[in-house]
Amino acid sequence: MINLLGLDRGQLQQFLIECGEKPYRAVQLLKWIYERGVDNFDDMTDISKNFRSHLKNHCSIQTPDIMSEHVASDQTRKWLMAVPGGNLIETVFIPEAKRGTLCISSQVGCALNCTFCSTARQGFNRDLSAAEIIGQVWKAQQRLDSVTDSPLSTKITNVVMMGMGEPLLNFESLKPALSIMRDEHAYQLPRRRVTVSTSGVIPGIDRLIKECDVSLALSLHAPNDQLRNQIVPLNKKYNIKALLDACRRYTAQNSRYFVTMEYVMLKGVNDSILHARELAKILSNVKCKVNLIPFNPFPGAAYKCSSLEHIKSFAKVLTTKGIVCTTRTTRGDDIDAACGQLVGKVIDKTKRSQRMLKQQRTAPDRVSNAEST
Ligand code: SAH
Repeated sequence: MINLLGLDRGQLQQFLIECGEKPYRAVQLLKWIYERGVDNFDDMTDISKNFRSHLKNHCSIQTPDIMSEHVASDQTRKWLMAVPGGNLIETVFIPEAKRGTLCISSQVGCALNCTFCSTARQGFNRDLSAAEIIGQVWKAQQRLDSVTDSPLSTKITNVVMMGMGEPLLNFESLKPALSIMRDEHAYQLPRRRVTVSTSGVIPGIDRLIKECDVSLALSLHAPNDQLRNQIVPLNKKYNIKALLDACRRYTAQNSRYFVTMEYVMLKGVNDSILHARELAKILSNVKCKVNLIPFNPFPGAAYKCSSLEHIKSFAKVLTTKGIVCTTRTTRGDDIDAACGQLVGKVIDKTKRSQRMLKQQRTAPDRVSNAEST
């Protein structure tokens, strides 16, 4: 059985040619599957009966299963979705009055090891397929369509690749999924409303520039290599200078393009006025906006969130230096659906989760150590 979910327009055309069908039927399939949310070939009435029965016999539209749903007091919804292999991934919907942002996962767990992220502690199992990535959007929209009592938007207007995993380490699956989000016959999302967030995988950024037209967010989190090496270990491979060069290649594509710099506010670690000045300096010649993210705690975390006052003064330094800066409002934290709190259930192949637990048991005072810095 071929799962048609996750094939973008080009791949569907290829599939149709192989079936001896006209490639323009790809548009019909995209409309049925994504625009109308249909997963039953019998309902696809503008497709010939013969071809429908061929599809029924050889193909499926296989979406992930929602295993549980949690609704936060602010209407943020978190779903645990099952994907083959006994793993659970997390998908979060953040509604506003006229906007709905879906935060989706790209991998089961994460192979990187950012010290402030709870997904990192789960270790890594595998990449998600394109079907499993776009399937989160499909399933979320199907579920949201049946919600009738929400005062806020139930339409997905934005998608951010900010769930579990590092999207640019799973480029092969990411690419068709992004293409389906953007396709005028599928989810029809404008470039500005599809965001890939990366911890800084430079070859992936360069492929994104060439192959996918979407918004880019960089998890910067520190203004110098010494500090970034500690909290985002990938920095030892791709340092800040090289990263900012990659950002400049991205923004050079179009005068309207900019990069969103994400900066998690860790009390006593990266949140001083000096850090803010250093950040303003390195960003002075990059077209970007800074998004300060209050640190979201999780059990066993070695950090605390900076105080609101601290965040405000940090932001003021940046805006005074002419850098547009916003502070992310924490949503869904009462159901552990906020940034860096997504953990799902990862059958960890790296054994990192076990090592972490052991470390925590032998060094239970890590939290108080961080507090006193
Ligand atoms: N791997 C990608 C996308 C996933 S994380 C990346 O690193 O960008 C999405 C954002 O949430 C990133 O900026 C990440 O650094 C941030 N984040 C992770 N843990 C967090 C936490 N505990 N509190 C606040 N933000 C966190």
